[in-house]
Amino acid sequence: MTFDLSDQSVLITGGTRGIGRSIVTAAAEAGARVAFTYRSSHEAAEELVASLEAQGVEAMALQGDVAELEAAEAAVASVTDAWGSLDVLVNNAGITRDGLMLRLKEADWDDVLDTNLKGVFNFCKAAYRPMMSQRAGAIVNISSVVGVMGNPGQTNYAASKAGIIGFSKSLAKELARRSVTVNVVAPGYVATDMTDELSDDAREAMLGAVPLGRPATPEEVARAVLFLADPEARYITGHVLHVDGGLAM
Ligand code: NDP
Repeated sequence: MTFDLSDQSVLITGGTRGIGRSIVTAAAEAGARVAFTYRSSHEAAEELVASLEAQGVEAMALQGDVAELEAAEAAVASVTDAWGSLDVLVNNAGITRDGLMLRLKEADWDDVLDTNLKGVFNFCKAAYRPMMSQRAGAIVNISSVVGVMGNPGQTNYAASKAGIIGFSKSLAKELARRSVTVNVVAPGYVATDMTDELSDDAREAMLGAVPLGRPATPEEVARAVLFLADPEARYITGHVLHVDGGLAM
């Protein structure tokens, strides 16, 4: 699959590892100028920018917590100041703080909702005006199969990921008249640092339920994101694209 994001300015939250890093790489390969955010992986961010620049890609790493609106506004301003536009926003940054409801602490709820859901609100809010006035743009938000199907021990995570779907459909309706699309990618089980934390039993149970019988690679998720971001796909909006090996059918 090849995508064409040449002359597009792309901003991806949480680009240093896992799925986000694959989206950064894929967007660069598609010819985009690529900015990405991270929270604490400073060395990984610098190394990624250096390797993109060595390939002739215009790249930018922006430190900040997605849960802070000011960080989102600063990141969007960095992109529009440097490159004149923000054409594609990918809200990828996310965390888990798993536990059965009985033991879940208020802080586990707040951290997950603040990062996963408010983070998406913050970056969409910051991107709203520039994309509206450009009368063009694509927003892709990363949800999860857990937001569609639920999962014991993940009430906080499921709420945040289900929230992303309702949020995105509403924003898609708000921004459609300005030719800005808003879509969701809902991955299933992807092999990253996040799923490395699972116990062997949990991993086996999850894989056993996947009709295709294997985890996704981060690259497979990145290709779905690029498909929705590509200017050729700009008649698709308010859609939830499942990349889950058949889990949620
Ligand atoms: P990783 O844990 O591998 O990477 C998370 C990335 O998000 C890192 O770059 C991290 O930056 C960044 N990040 C986390 N919190 C913040 C924050 N508060 N502010 C800024 N950046 C932050 O995650 P994955 O690649 O596995 O997941 C990416 C997305 O995909 C998440 O939204 C996740 O919920 C979703 N997803 C993942 C699945 C999976 O199986 N892995 C399945 C379904 C959905 P830093 O390195 O600096 O901490």
